[in-house]
Amino acid sequence: MTVLLELNNICKNYKLGNQKIHILKNINLEIQSGEMIAIMGASGSGKSTLMNILGCLDTASSGIYQVNKQDISIFNNDNLAKLRREYFGFIFQRYHLLPYVNVINNVEIPAIYSGISKIERRKRAIFLLKKLGLSERINYWPNQLSGGQQQRVSIARALMNGGQVILADEPAGALDSYSSNEVINILKKLCEKGHTVIIVTHDSMVANQVKRVIKICDGKIISDIFKHKIVKNKINFLNSDIRTTLWKQIITQFYEAFIMALRAIKSHKIRSALTMLGIIIGILSVVLILVIGDAAKNKVLEDIKSIGTNTIDIYPGQDFINDNPIFYQSLKYEDLIALKEQSYVNVLTPIISRNMRLRIGNIDVLANVNGIGEHFFNVYDMIFLQGSAINIMQSQSQIVVIDINTQHKFFPNKKHVIGEVIMVGNMPLTIIGVVKQKKSMLGNHKTLNVWIPYNIMINRIVGNTYFDSITLRIKDGYNSQEVEKKLINFLILRHGKKDFFIYNMDSLVHVAEKTTRTLQIFLMLIAIISLVVGGIGVMNIMLVSVTERTREIGILMAVGARSSNVLQQFLIEAILICLFGGILGVFIALLISFSLQWFLIGDWKITCQPIAIISGIICSTIIGMIFGYLPARHAANLSPVDALSRE
Ligand code: ADP
Ligand code: MG
Repeated sequence: MTVLLELNNICKNYKLGNQKIHILKNINLEIQSGEMIAIMGASGSGKSTLMNILGCLDTASSGIYQVNKQDISIFNNDNLAKLRREYFGFIFQRYHLLPYVNVINNVEIPAIYSGISKIERRKRAIFLLKKLGLSERINYWPNQLSGGQQQRVSIARALMNGGQVILADEPAGALDSYSSNEVINILKKLCEKGHTVIIVTHDSMVANQVKRVIKICDGKIISDIFKHKIVKNKINFLNSDIRTTLWKQIITQFYEAFIMALRAIKSHKIRSALTMLGIIIGILSVVLILVIGDAAKNKVLEDIKSIGTNTIDIYPGQDFINDNPIFYQSLKYEDLIALKEQSYVNVLTPIISRNMRLRIGNIDVLANVNGIGEHFFNVYDMIFLQGSAINIMQSQSQIVVIDINTQHKFFPNKKHVIGEVIMVGNMPLTIIGVVKQKKSMLGNHKTLNVWIPYNIMINRIVGNTYFDSITLRIKDGYNSQEVEKKLINFLILRHGKKDFFIYNMDSLVHVAEKTTRTLQIFLMLIAIISLVVGGIGVMNIMLVSVTERTREIGILMAVGARSSNVLQQFLIEAILICLFGGILGVFIALLISFSLQWFLIGDWKITCQPIAIISGIICSTIIGMIFGYLPARHAANLSPVDALSRE
């Protein structure tokens, strides 16, 4: 007979405060392969502790334990897991089936960890369940089975990888006498087939049926009685040939962990949804800021550009704020003529503006009246709805171009207003054109604007020859910053001093670009903070989940899961939750963006940028990885006995 398990002076102590309590005291035991042993003793005498040590769920405080002549004290956690997986099959008093996995999948779990292919696994699980009279129940859930049936499922699971040594800790403790008999008979049959069966029991009837009874009291073996000789049968253990290649095993285990994680998420729907919520909000804000922020930026820039980026305004004085009267006269007609000759000037126009009253009949409205040159509408790219611009021949004529607002005000019912006469101050002017309202950064859209030849403005209205400003359009191919410099030098040379200032639209675009970018970065920072908060939420709930599912982790470890399998499973769960949250977040963000575009701000151009979607999804995955790692590692580092004994 071969000695399969051998314990030499095994002690187990626990520290309780400063006290050391001795649970097992110098246990010496040899167990032959093919034996059936009943371990008996009062509650608290150390039976379960001994079983856990035998099954490598727990390690002894001192002494030597050999399995198949190998001292297991040199084994690392993965090797111990392998031993549990390949040698031992556990049967617990409370069955310990995974609640969210059906019968056949419960039975298959040990084989997943030992890398058996799916087909092989299925075949063996069905075979075992059939043998145990459960072929009708393979797709049931554990809670749909009676206690006896659940225990038979757990026996099938123990046999899945071979189960050379069956360790049954009060397997009939929670069963009625009929089911209890059934279970004991199954175990006896297994022993006859060559399995080594060790069973903890209180029932002397059970003890009477086995060949060897060991009694324990206070952590010591007080008797060890053999009743019969052991007959050794040949046993058909799992053939390691059916194991797949390492790569396939890794992929299978990943796939199974993925499926288990999905099941775990599904079985805790509300909790998973709440966890996701944090991530959804975080990703939602990141994507919204990316998409809407970009649309807003483009809109602002477009607005500015529509005013004209290749125009430069020259104003008298030092700046908009410092309004010193001594500079009022600095922009003269001669400047206009001289500037016209500059190579970089495409077209230019002077502007003299006054607020005056417009009148037709009894309608009398204040408006902005601008005296301008013939190129004005060209410089500002204005669109004519009716009529045409003032031409050079009309520079002395009493004509006016009005904007569409003015038309609406004075001719609410008329479509065509060319040729109508309007009183500007007390001067009658003929309308020759109507222009579309132009977006403006200063001044609001409601102001009425009309334009008249600057000669009329100078001679008939203001009575002096100074311009309020000169606006010029730069020739294509010239850099606006350089033109600005040249202009300054040119005018200083002419005036002998700097009595003017320049307003360059192009620089404004740069400033606006910079401002919107800064704003976007700032908002992004806030969004990222919310994402991190979401991640911490995930970590928190995953930690709770690990604590709550400690027993489940213990079960997985008892059937042979490595620490890495547990780590993988919980990490995948965290990543999946975050990924779902991320995808939902991206989806909702796009939904919000596009509905904003439809319902609120029609002229915003919202584009579904792939970068926003991809970064949203990558972000959520990374959050899942970072914040899922700690709880997953916590789960993986649990010791199997601790995990199993936790309620
Ligand atoms: P039983 O024979 O009833 O299965 P156990 O082996 O479960 O007894 O426990 C034996 C003794 O060890 C009990 O007194 C129990 O309180 C103690 N014990 C078990 N686990 C621990 C632990 N983790 N820490 C401290 N004491 C423990
Ligand atoms: Mg016990």
